[in-house]
Amino acid sequence: MVFLMRYTGKKVAVIGLGVNNTPLIRFLVEQGAEVSVLDRKNRDELREYLDQLAGLPVTYHLGPDYLEYLRGQEVVFLSPGVPKNLPALQEAAASGAVFSSELEVFFAENRQRSRAPVIGITGSCGKTTTTTMLGLMLEKEKPVRVGGNIGRPPLTFLPELTPETWVVLELSSFQLQDLGYSPQIAVLLNITPNHLDVHSSFDEYVQAKEEIIKNQSGDDLAIFNWDNPVTRRLAANAKGKVYFFSRRLQPETGAFVKNGDIILRLDGKNEEYICPAAEKRLPGEHNLENILAAALAARLAGVSPAAIASVIREFKGVEHRLEFLRELDGVVYYNDSKATTPEETIAGLRALSVPVVLIGGGYDKKLPFTELAKVAAERCRVVILIGATAGKIREALEEVEGEDRLLSEIHQAASLEEAVAIARSKAGPGEAVLLSPACASYDMFRNFEERGRRFKELVFGIQPRKK
Ligand code: ADP
Repeated sequence: MVFLMRYTGKKVAVIGLGVNNTPLIRFLVEQGAEVSVLDRKNRDELREYLDQLAGLPVTYHLGPDYLEYLRGQEVVFLSPGVPKNLPALQEAAASGAVFSSELEVFFAENRQRSRAPVIGITGSCGKTTTTTMLGLMLEKEKPVRVGGNIGRPPLTFLPELTPETWVVLELSSFQLQDLGYSPQIAVLLNITPNHLDVHSSFDEYVQAKEEIIKNQSGDDLAIFNWDNPVTRRLAANAKGKVYFFSRRLQPETGAFVKNGDIILRLDGKNEEYICPAAEKRLPGEHNLENILAAALAARLAGVSPAAIASVIREFKGVEHRLEFLRELDGVVYYNDSKATTPEETIAGLRALSVPVVLIGGGYDKKLPFTELAKVAAERCRVVILIGATAGKIREALEEVEGEDRLLSEIHQAASLEEAVAIARSKAGPGEAVLLSPACASYDMFRNFEERGRRFKELVFGIQPRKK
Protein backbone atom coordinates (compact mmCIF):
# COMPACT_ATOMS: atom_id res chain seq x y z
CA MET A 1 0.00 0.00 0.00
CA VAL A 2 1.24 3.50 -0.83
CA PHE A 3 0.95 6.08 1.92
CA LEU A 4 0.65 9.83 1.52
CA MET A 5 4.21 10.50 2.69
CA ARG A 6 3.10 13.77 4.23
CA TYR A 7 5.70 13.48 6.93
CA THR A 8 8.86 12.61 5.00
CA GLY A 9 11.79 14.66 6.30
CA LYS A 10 9.56 16.55 8.76
CA LYS A 11 10.44 17.16 12.38
CA VAL A 12 7.56 15.64 14.28
CA ALA A 13 6.91 15.32 18.01
CA VAL A 14 4.62 12.73 19.52
CA ILE A 15 3.40 13.72 22.96
CA GLY A 16 2.49 10.74 25.08
CA LEU A 17 3.87 7.26 24.62
CA GLY A 18 1.17 4.63 25.00
CA VAL A 19 -1.04 2.06 23.31
CA ASN A 20 -2.41 4.46 20.70
CA ASN A 21 0.77 6.23 19.79
CA THR A 22 3.10 3.23 19.53
CA PRO A 23 1.83 2.23 16.04
CA LEU A 24 1.79 5.93 15.10
CA ILE A 25 5.47 6.32 15.98
CA ARG A 26 6.30 3.25 13.92
CA PHE A 27 4.29 4.65 11.00
CA LEU A 28 5.99 8.06 11.19
CA VAL A 29 9.43 6.46 11.22
CA GLU A 30 8.50 4.37 8.17
CA GLN A 31 7.46 7.59 6.48
CA GLY A 32 10.94 9.01 7.00
CA ALA A 33 9.97 11.60 9.60
CA GLU A 34 12.43 12.79 12.24
CA VAL A 35 10.52 11.61 15.30
CA SER A 36 10.84 12.86 18.89
CA VAL A 37 8.74 11.32 21.63
CA LEU A 38 7.88 13.51 24.61
CA ASP A 39 6.38 12.13 27.80
CA ARG A 40 6.07 13.29 31.39
CA LYS A 41 6.64 9.75 32.66
CA ASN A 42 10.11 8.31 33.09
CA ARG A 43 11.85 5.43 31.37
CA ASP A 44 10.78 2.83 33.96
CA GLU A 45 7.12 3.75 33.77
CA LEU A 46 7.22 3.55 29.97
CA ARG A 47 9.32 0.39 29.76
CA GLU A 48 6.62 -1.69 28.03
CA TYR A 49 6.28 0.73 25.10
CA LEU A 50 9.99 1.57 24.87
CA ASP A 51 10.67 -2.15 24.46
CA GLN A 52 8.15 -2.36 21.64
CA LEU A 53 9.90 0.46 19.79
CA ALA A 54 13.45 -0.73 20.51
CA GLY A 55 15.82 -0.19 17.60
CA LEU A 56 13.77 2.53 15.87
CA PRO A 57 15.52 5.86 15.19
CA VAL A 58 13.49 7.90 17.68
CA THR A 59 14.69 10.61 20.11
CA TYR A 60 13.12 10.40 23.57
CA HIS A 61 12.59 13.35 25.91
CA LEU A 62 11.13 11.87 29.07
CA GLY A 63 10.48 13.30 32.52
CA PRO A 64 9.08 16.51 34.01
CA ASP A 65 10.56 19.01 31.51
CA TYR A 66 9.41 17.03 28.45
CA LEU A 67 7.51 19.94 26.89
CA GLU A 68 10.65 22.04 26.59
CA TYR A 69 11.60 19.95 23.59
CA LEU A 70 8.68 21.17 21.49
CA ARG A 71 10.69 23.99 20.02
CA GLY A 72 11.33 23.66 16.29
CA GLN A 73 8.85 20.83 15.77
CA GLU A 74 6.78 21.09 12.58
CA VAL A 75 4.01 18.65 13.43
CA VAL A 76 2.92 17.80 16.97
CA PHE A 77 0.89 14.64 17.60
CA LEU A 78 -1.15 14.82 20.76
CA SER A 79 -2.40 11.90 22.78
CA PRO A 80 -6.10 12.00 23.47
CA GLY A 81 -6.65 14.01 26.63
CA VAL A 82 -3.59 16.28 26.45
CA PRO A 83 -5.17 19.73 26.87
CA LYS A 84 -4.28 22.09 24.02
CA ASN A 85 -4.24 25.12 26.28
CA LEU A 86 -0.90 24.15 27.88
CA PRO A 87 1.37 27.19 27.43
CA ALA A 88 4.08 25.14 25.68
CA LEU A 89 1.55 23.90 23.12
CA GLN A 90 0.20 27.37 22.50
CA GLU A 91 3.75 28.59 21.97
CA ALA A 92 4.39 25.78 19.50
CA ALA A 93 1.20 26.68 17.63
CA ALA A 94 2.23 30.34 17.55
CA SER A 95 5.53 29.42 15.96
CA GLY A 96 3.78 27.49 13.20
CA ALA A 97 3.54 23.89 14.45
CA VAL A 98 0.59 21.94 13.11
CA PHE A 99 -1.34 19.64 15.49
CA SER A 100 -2.41 16.19 14.52
CA SER A 101 -3.29 12.82 16.04
CA GLU A 102 -3.16 9.11 15.40
CA LEU A 103 -6.80 9.14 14.29
CA GLU A 104 -6.33 12.08 11.96
CA VAL A 105 -3.57 10.13 10.21
CA PHE A 106 -5.83 7.08 10.02
CA PHE A 107 -8.75 8.98 8.50
CA ALA A 108 -6.52 10.83 6.01
CA GLU A 109 -4.68 7.71 4.85
CA ASN A 110 -7.82 5.61 4.66
CA ARG A 111 -9.70 8.22 2.68
CA GLN A 112 -6.89 8.61 0.14
CA ARG A 113 -5.87 4.99 -0.22
CA SER A 114 -7.97 2.14 1.09
CA ARG A 115 -11.36 3.86 1.17
CA ALA A 116 -12.79 1.48 3.71
CA PRO A 117 -16.18 2.70 4.97
CA VAL A 118 -16.01 3.79 8.62
CA ILE A 119 -18.69 3.61 11.28
CA GLY A 120 -17.83 5.78 14.29
CA ILE A 121 -19.48 5.45 17.68
CA THR A 122 -19.38 8.06 20.38
CA GLY A 123 -21.37 8.96 23.49
CA SER A 124 -20.84 9.42 27.19
CA CYS A 125 -21.72 5.81 28.01
CA GLY A 126 -22.11 2.57 26.11
CA LYS A 127 -19.40 3.09 23.49
CA THR A 128 -17.42 -0.08 24.08
CA THR A 129 -20.51 -2.25 24.48
CA THR A 130 -22.09 -0.91 21.27
CA THR A 131 -18.84 -0.99 19.30
CA THR A 132 -18.19 -4.60 20.27
CA MET A 133 -21.75 -5.67 19.47
CA LEU A 134 -21.76 -3.88 16.11
CA GLY A 135 -18.44 -5.52 15.24
CA LEU A 136 -20.00 -8.94 15.94
CA MET A 137 -23.05 -8.14 13.79
CA LEU A 138 -20.90 -7.08 10.85
CA GLU A 139 -18.58 -10.02 11.30
CA LYS A 140 -21.47 -12.39 10.56
CA GLU A 141 -21.57 -11.24 6.94
CA LYS A 142 -18.74 -8.81 6.07
CA PRO A 143 -15.03 -8.26 6.47
CA VAL A 144 -14.68 -5.93 9.46
CA ARG A 145 -12.00 -4.38 11.70
CA VAL A 146 -12.85 -2.90 15.11
CA GLY A 147 -10.65 -0.31 16.83
CA GLY A 148 -10.18 3.14 18.32
CA ASN A 149 -10.78 3.94 21.96
CA ILE A 150 -11.59 0.29 22.57
CA GLY A 151 -7.83 -0.27 22.75
CA ARG A 152 -6.90 -1.29 19.19
CA PRO A 153 -5.21 1.57 17.32
CA PRO A 154 -6.61 1.62 13.76
CA LEU A 155 -3.19 2.29 12.22
CA THR A 156 -2.33 -1.32 13.05
CA PHE A 157 -4.91 -2.59 10.57
CA LEU A 158 -4.73 0.25 8.02
CA PRO A 159 -2.53 -1.72 5.56
CA GLU A 160 -5.11 -4.55 5.39
CA LEU A 161 -8.12 -2.40 4.55
CA THR A 162 -9.96 -2.48 1.21
CA PRO A 163 -13.11 -0.65 0.06
CA GLU A 164 -15.05 -3.77 1.08
CA THR A 165 -13.83 -3.80 4.69
CA TRP A 166 -16.03 -2.12 7.28
CA VAL A 167 -14.16 -0.28 10.01
CA VAL A 168 -15.94 0.21 13.35
CA LEU A 169 -14.29 2.82 15.57
CA GLU A 170 -15.06 3.67 19.16
CA LEU A 171 -14.35 7.41 19.43
CA SER A 172 -13.90 9.30 22.70
CA SER A 173 -14.49 13.03 23.04
CA PHE A 174 -10.72 13.51 23.29
CA GLN A 175 -10.13 11.65 20.04
CA LEU A 176 -12.89 13.59 18.27
CA GLN A 177 -11.86 17.06 19.40
CA ASP A 178 -10.63 18.95 16.31
CA LEU A 179 -10.28 15.68 14.38
CA GLY A 180 -11.32 17.27 11.10
CA TYR A 181 -12.87 14.04 9.81
CA SER A 182 -16.16 12.27 10.38
CA PRO A 183 -17.12 8.67 9.63
CA GLN A 184 -19.58 7.69 6.88
CA ILE A 185 -21.96 6.38 9.52
CA ALA A 186 -21.91 8.31 12.79
CA VAL A 187 -23.56 6.99 15.94
CA LEU A 188 -24.23 9.35 18.85
CA LEU A 189 -25.41 7.26 21.79
CA ASN A 190 -25.99 9.87 24.49
CA ILE A 191 -24.35 12.93 26.00
CA THR A 192 -24.24 13.57 29.73
CA PRO A 193 -21.58 15.43 31.75
CA ASN A 194 -18.23 13.61 31.86
CA HIS A 195 -14.50 14.41 31.97
CA LEU A 196 -15.21 17.89 33.29
CA ASP A 197 -11.80 17.74 34.97
CA VAL A 198 -10.15 17.91 31.51
CA HIS A 199 -12.71 19.54 29.17
CA SER A 200 -13.08 23.16 30.22
CA SER A 201 -16.88 23.12 30.07
CA PHE A 202 -19.88 20.97 29.18
CA ASP A 203 -20.22 22.97 25.93
CA GLU A 204 -16.67 22.11 24.94
CA TYR A 205 -17.42 18.44 25.64
CA VAL A 206 -20.58 18.56 23.48
CA GLN A 207 -18.67 20.34 20.71
CA ALA A 208 -15.99 17.65 20.75
CA LYS A 209 -18.65 14.95 20.36
CA GLU A 210 -20.30 16.91 17.56
CA GLU A 211 -17.15 16.49 15.49
CA ILE A 212 -18.49 13.02 14.65
CA ILE A 213 -21.05 14.62 12.30
CA LYS A 214 -19.42 17.96 11.56
CA ASN A 215 -17.30 16.83 8.63
CA GLN A 216 -19.87 14.50 7.09
CA SER A 217 -21.20 15.05 3.57
CA GLY A 218 -24.79 14.89 2.31
CA ASP A 219 -24.26 11.22 1.39
CA ASP A 220 -23.32 10.20 4.92
CA LEU A 221 -25.60 8.79 7.60
CA ALA A 222 -26.02 9.75 11.24
CA ILE A 223 -27.76 7.88 14.06
CA PHE A 224 -28.97 9.74 17.16
CA ASN A 225 -30.62 8.81 20.44
CA TRP A 226 -34.07 10.41 20.43
CA ASP A 227 -34.45 9.85 24.16
CA ASN A 228 -31.36 11.93 25.05
CA PRO A 229 -32.15 15.66 24.78
CA VAL A 230 -28.61 16.68 23.82
CA THR A 231 -28.20 14.20 20.96
CA ARG A 232 -31.76 14.85 19.74
CA ARG A 233 -30.91 18.53 19.48
CA LEU A 234 -27.62 17.85 17.67
CA ALA A 235 -29.46 15.90 14.96
CA ALA A 236 -30.57 19.26 13.52
CA ASN A 237 -26.90 19.93 12.60
CA ALA A 238 -26.45 16.69 10.62
CA LYS A 239 -25.57 17.16 6.96
CA GLY A 240 -26.59 13.71 5.77
CA LYS A 241 -29.51 11.40 6.40
CA VAL A 242 -30.70 11.22 10.01
CA TYR A 243 -31.95 8.12 11.85
CA PHE A 244 -33.14 7.99 15.43
CA PHE A 245 -33.37 5.17 17.91
CA SER A 246 -35.76 5.35 20.83
CA ARG A 247 -37.03 3.20 23.68
CA ARG A 248 -40.02 5.47 24.16
CA LEU A 249 -41.54 6.27 20.77
CA GLN A 250 -41.38 5.16 17.15
CA PRO A 251 -39.26 7.53 15.05
CA GLU A 252 -40.17 7.81 11.37
CA THR A 253 -36.77 6.50 10.28
CA GLY A 254 -34.82 4.48 12.78
CA ALA A 255 -35.03 1.76 15.40
CA PHE A 256 -37.60 1.22 18.12
CA VAL A 257 -39.65 -1.31 20.08
CA LYS A 258 -43.21 -2.05 19.00
CA ASN A 259 -45.39 -4.54 20.88
CA GLY A 260 -42.24 -5.88 22.50
CA ASP A 261 -40.40 -6.42 19.20
CA ILE A 262 -37.29 -4.64 17.96
CA ILE A 263 -38.22 -2.99 14.67
CA LEU A 264 -36.19 -1.05 12.10
CA ARG A 265 -37.72 1.39 9.63
CA LEU A 266 -35.11 2.74 7.26
CA ASP A 267 -37.24 4.32 4.55
CA GLY A 268 -40.00 5.86 6.65
CA LYS A 269 -42.46 3.18 5.44
CA ASN A 270 -41.46 -0.46 5.66
CA GLU A 271 -40.97 -2.05 9.04
CA GLU A 272 -38.35 -4.77 9.43
CA TYR A 273 -38.77 -7.19 12.30
CA ILE A 274 -35.55 -8.11 14.15
CA CYS A 275 -36.51 -10.10 17.28
CA PRO A 276 -38.40 -9.72 20.56
CA ALA A 277 -36.61 -7.22 22.85
CA ALA A 278 -37.00 -9.73 25.68
CA GLU A 279 -34.59 -12.09 23.91
CA LYS A 280 -31.62 -9.78 24.49
CA ARG A 281 -28.97 -11.15 26.83
CA LEU A 282 -27.58 -7.79 27.96
CA PRO A 283 -29.13 -6.60 31.23
CA GLY A 284 -30.99 -3.32 31.65
CA GLU A 285 -32.90 -0.80 29.58
CA HIS A 286 -29.75 1.21 28.90
CA ASN A 287 -28.48 -1.77 26.95
CA LEU A 288 -31.65 -1.77 24.86
CA GLU A 289 -30.49 1.65 23.65
CA ASN A 290 -27.08 0.24 22.76
CA ILE A 291 -28.76 -2.67 20.94
CA LEU A 292 -31.09 -0.40 18.94
CA ALA A 293 -28.12 1.76 17.91
CA ALA A 294 -25.98 -1.21 16.89
CA ALA A 295 -28.84 -2.89 15.01
CA LEU A 296 -29.55 0.28 13.07
CA ALA A 297 -25.91 0.85 12.12
CA ALA A 298 -25.45 -2.80 11.13
CA ARG A 299 -28.57 -2.76 8.93
CA LEU A 300 -27.47 0.48 7.25
CA ALA A 301 -24.17 -1.27 6.49
CA GLY A 302 -26.13 -4.08 4.82
CA VAL A 303 -26.19 -6.78 7.52
CA SER A 304 -29.32 -8.98 7.35
CA PRO A 305 -32.01 -8.81 10.07
CA ALA A 306 -31.37 -12.49 10.87
CA ALA A 307 -27.66 -11.91 11.56
CA ILE A 308 -28.46 -8.87 13.71
CA ALA A 309 -31.02 -10.87 15.69
CA SER A 310 -28.60 -13.71 16.31
CA VAL A 311 -26.06 -11.34 17.92
CA ILE A 312 -28.76 -9.74 20.08
CA ARG A 313 -29.66 -13.24 21.31
CA GLU A 314 -26.02 -14.30 21.91
CA PHE A 315 -24.06 -11.27 23.10
CA LYS A 316 -23.59 -11.27 26.86
CA GLY A 317 -21.57 -8.08 27.17
CA VAL A 318 -18.02 -6.93 27.73
CA GLU A 319 -15.95 -7.60 30.85
CA HIS A 320 -16.34 -5.01 33.68
CA ARG A 321 -19.66 -3.70 32.27
CA LEU A 322 -22.36 -4.97 34.60
CA GLU A 323 -20.68 -8.35 34.37
CA PHE A 324 -22.44 -11.17 36.22
CA LEU A 325 -19.90 -13.00 38.41
CA ARG A 326 -21.61 -15.58 40.59
CA GLU A 327 -24.49 -16.42 42.88
CA LEU A 328 -23.53 -17.43 46.41
CA ASP A 329 -25.82 -18.06 49.36
CA GLY A 330 -28.65 -16.42 47.42
CA VAL A 331 -26.64 -13.25 46.70
CA VAL A 332 -25.73 -12.28 43.11
CA TYR A 333 -22.43 -10.46 42.46
CA TYR A 334 -21.86 -8.04 39.57
CA ASN A 335 -18.68 -6.28 38.46
CA ASP A 336 -19.42 -2.88 36.90
CA SER A 337 -15.94 -1.40 37.40
CA LYS A 338 -16.25 0.45 34.07
CA ALA A 339 -19.02 2.60 35.56
CA THR A 340 -16.83 5.65 36.05
CA THR A 341 -19.57 8.30 36.02
CA PRO A 342 -22.76 8.76 38.06
CA GLU A 343 -24.95 8.08 34.97
CA GLU A 344 -23.31 4.74 34.38
CA THR A 345 -23.86 3.67 37.96
CA ILE A 346 -27.46 4.87 37.76
CA ALA A 347 -27.92 2.69 34.65
CA GLY A 348 -26.43 -0.28 36.52
CA LEU A 349 -28.66 0.26 39.57
CA ARG A 350 -31.76 0.53 37.38
CA ALA A 351 -30.82 -2.63 35.52
CA LEU A 352 -30.95 -4.72 38.69
CA SER A 353 -34.43 -5.48 39.96
CA VAL A 354 -33.40 -6.53 43.49
CA PRO A 355 -32.15 -4.53 46.54
CA VAL A 356 -28.49 -3.65 46.09
CA VAL A 357 -25.46 -3.59 48.33
CA LEU A 358 -23.40 -1.06 46.39
CA ILE A 359 -19.64 -0.56 46.48
CA GLY A 360 -18.86 2.90 45.06
CA GLY A 361 -16.44 5.80 45.12
CA GLY A 362 -13.01 6.49 43.66
CA TYR A 363 -11.00 9.20 41.93
CA ASP A 364 -12.67 12.62 41.77
CA LYS A 365 -13.63 13.76 38.24
CA LYS A 366 -15.64 16.66 39.72
CA LEU A 367 -18.99 15.31 38.61
CA PRO A 368 -22.15 15.94 40.65
CA PHE A 369 -23.52 13.04 42.76
CA THR A 370 -26.99 14.44 43.52
CA GLU A 371 -28.89 12.34 40.94
CA LEU A 372 -26.93 9.23 41.76
CA ALA A 373 -27.66 9.70 45.45
CA LYS A 374 -31.42 9.83 44.77
CA VAL A 375 -31.41 6.61 42.74
CA ALA A 376 -29.01 4.88 45.14
CA ALA A 377 -31.13 5.80 48.15
CA GLU A 378 -34.12 4.11 46.50
CA ARG A 379 -32.38 1.03 45.16
CA CYS A 380 -29.61 0.26 47.66
CA ARG A 381 -30.12 -1.09 51.15
CA VAL A 382 -26.43 -0.68 51.93
CA VAL A 383 -23.78 1.57 50.36
CA ILE A 384 -20.08 0.99 51.00
CA LEU A 385 -17.78 3.82 49.92
CA ILE A 386 -14.08 3.77 49.06
CA GLY A 387 -11.57 6.21 47.62
CA ALA A 388 -11.26 9.98 47.24
CA THR A 389 -14.98 10.68 46.65
CA ALA A 390 -16.26 8.61 49.60
CA GLY A 391 -16.98 11.70 51.70
CA LYS A 392 -18.73 13.58 48.87
CA ILE A 393 -20.97 10.64 47.99
CA ARG A 394 -21.83 10.08 51.65
CA GLU A 395 -22.86 13.73 51.98
CA ALA A 396 -25.03 13.51 48.87
CA LEU A 397 -26.67 10.32 50.18
CA GLU A 398 -27.34 11.87 53.58
CA GLU A 399 -29.09 14.82 51.94
CA VAL A 400 -31.63 12.68 50.08
CA GLU A 401 -35.11 12.94 51.53
CA GLY A 402 -38.20 11.04 50.53
CA GLU A 403 -40.46 8.18 51.32
CA ASP A 404 -38.99 5.71 48.85
CA ARG A 405 -35.78 5.47 50.78
CA LEU A 406 -34.51 1.91 51.06
CA LEU A 407 -31.02 2.89 52.14
CA SER A 408 -30.38 2.09 55.76
CA GLU A 409 -26.59 1.80 56.10
CA ILE A 410 -23.64 3.75 54.73
CA HIS A 411 -20.13 2.46 55.40
CA GLN A 412 -16.69 3.71 54.47
CA ALA A 413 -13.88 1.23 53.79
CA ALA A 414 -10.16 1.80 53.48
CA SER A 415 -9.69 -0.75 50.69
CA LEU A 416 -11.61 -2.79 48.17
CA GLU A 417 -10.84 -5.88 50.26
CA GLU A 418 -12.52 -4.36 53.27
CA ALA A 419 -15.46 -3.18 51.15
CA VAL A 420 -16.03 -6.70 49.79
CA ALA A 421 -15.82 -8.15 53.30
CA ILE A 422 -18.47 -5.69 54.54
CA ALA A 423 -20.66 -6.37 51.48
CA ARG A 424 -20.40 -10.11 52.08
CA SER A 425 -21.45 -9.76 55.71
CA LYS A 426 -24.35 -7.40 54.96
CA ALA A 427 -25.92 -8.88 51.81
CA GLY A 428 -28.77 -11.31 52.30
CA PRO A 429 -30.54 -13.80 50.01
CA GLY A 430 -32.37 -12.07 47.14
CA GLU A 431 -29.97 -9.13 47.11
CA ALA A 432 -27.19 -8.11 44.73
CA VAL A 433 -23.67 -6.95 45.54
CA LEU A 434 -22.64 -4.47 42.86
CA LEU A 435 -19.26 -2.83 42.35
CA SER A 436 -20.23 0.27 40.36
CA PRO A 437 -17.98 3.09 41.54
CA ALA A 438 -19.42 6.10 39.58
CA CYS A 439 -15.81 7.33 39.61
CA ALA A 440 -12.51 6.64 37.89
CA SER A 441 -10.08 4.35 39.66
CA TYR A 442 -6.78 6.23 39.57
CA ASP A 443 -6.69 7.02 43.29
CA MET A 444 -6.34 3.34 44.22
CA PHE A 445 -5.70 1.38 41.02
CA ARG A 446 -3.88 1.71 37.69
CA ASN A 447 -7.16 1.63 35.80
CA PHE A 448 -10.72 0.29 35.90
CA GLU A 449 -9.59 -3.10 34.58
CA GLU A 450 -7.25 -3.61 37.53
CA ARG A 451 -10.03 -2.55 39.93
CA GLY A 452 -12.48 -4.95 38.27
CA ARG A 453 -10.03 -7.85 38.24
CA ARG A 454 -9.23 -7.35 41.92
CA PHE A 455 -12.94 -7.30 42.72
CA LYS A 456 -13.44 -10.52 40.77
CA GLU A 457 -10.59 -12.23 42.62
CA LEU A 458 -12.08 -11.18 45.94
CA VAL A 459 -15.59 -12.29 44.97
CA PHE A 460 -14.45 -15.66 43.63
CA GLY A 461 -12.41 -16.11 46.81
CA ILE A 462 -15.48 -15.95 49.04
CA GLN A 463 -16.32 -19.33 50.62
CA PRO A 464 -19.94 -20.48 50.92
CA ARG A 465 -21.46 -20.17 54.39
CA LYS A 466 -21.58 -23.41 56.36
CA LYS A 467 -25.12 -24.72 56.61
P1 ADP B 1 -17.99 3.51 27.34
O1 ADP B 1 -17.12 2.81 26.37
O2 ADP B 1 -18.75 4.65 26.71
O3 ADP B 1 -17.33 3.89 28.62
P2 ADP B 1 -19.11 0.95 28.13
O4 ADP B 1 -19.85 0.15 27.14
O5 ADP B 1 -17.72 0.57 28.44
O6 ADP B 1 -19.17 2.48 27.72
O7 ADP B 1 -19.95 0.96 29.47
C1 ADP B 1 -19.47 1.75 30.56
C2 ADP B 1 -20.46 1.78 31.70
O8 ADP B 1 -21.65 2.44 31.31
C3 ADP B 1 -20.89 0.43 32.22
O9 ADP B 1 -21.04 0.55 33.59
C4 ADP B 1 -22.21 0.19 31.54
O10 ADP B 1 -23.04 -0.66 32.29
C5 ADP B 1 -22.79 1.60 31.44
N1 ADP B 1 -23.57 1.82 30.21
C6 ADP B 1 -23.44 1.18 29.03
N2 ADP B 1 -24.31 1.66 28.13
C7 ADP B 1 -24.99 2.65 28.74
C8 ADP B 1 -26.03 3.52 28.31
N3 ADP B 1 -26.53 3.48 27.07
N4 ADP B 1 -26.50 4.42 29.21
C9 ADP B 1 -26.00 4.47 30.47
N5 ADP B 1 -25.03 3.67 30.92
C10 ADP B 1 -24.53 2.76 30.07
